Amino acid sequence: MNNSWLEAVLSLGSNLGDRLLLLRESLHQLELDSGIEIIAVSSVYETDPVGYLDQPAFYNIVIKIMTEHSPEQLLTICQKIEKKFHRERKVRWGPRTIDIDILTYDDISIDKPDLTIPHPRMNEREFVMLPLQELITGQVQVSAAVRPIFSNWY
Ligand code: ADP
Ligand code: MG
Repeated sequence: MNNSWLEAVLSLGSNLGDRLLLLRESLHQLELDSGIEIIAVSSVYETDPVGYLDQPAFYNIVIKIMTEHSPEQLLTICQKIEKKFHRERKVRWGPRTIDIDILTYDDISIDKPDLTIPHPRMNEREFVMLPLQELITGQVQVSAAVRPIFSNWY
């Protein structure tokens, strides 16, 4: 890693199929990329669905990476992983095998139709903010809708 590597924070969620396996496999896919190093992984949080309620609970995590990819390249890599695990976009905020969002990338702001950084809805999402706080403070946080279920799982 030289000084062209920058820090990014990603959020991953799954609520279809073997959710824990899908999270593990997605992290594995990220690690296979020579331009990505995972440096921190949160506990797995089980989250009641928001928006479209008639669907299984989510497993959510937040991870910190170092990367030499641009934000656009990183988005493409994340979307390839979503595709690999057969994510289908049927219902907005509906069930998905795996969803990978870029929360932050270094200290930059991007506002394009297909890529907004920092992620515009991250502050209102407990399933993002609780695991993120865990990564920042080392303290596991709990709420009624977002419950840590696996620590040191990866
Ligand atoms: P959501 O993550 O809000 O549930 P989707 O995963 O279906 O919704 O994403 C819809 C679109 O959001 C993607 O096609 C992608 O281009 C766009 N997008 C914009 N900003 C980001 C970001 N920071 N991270 C990931 N996707 C983003
Ligand atoms: Mg997404």
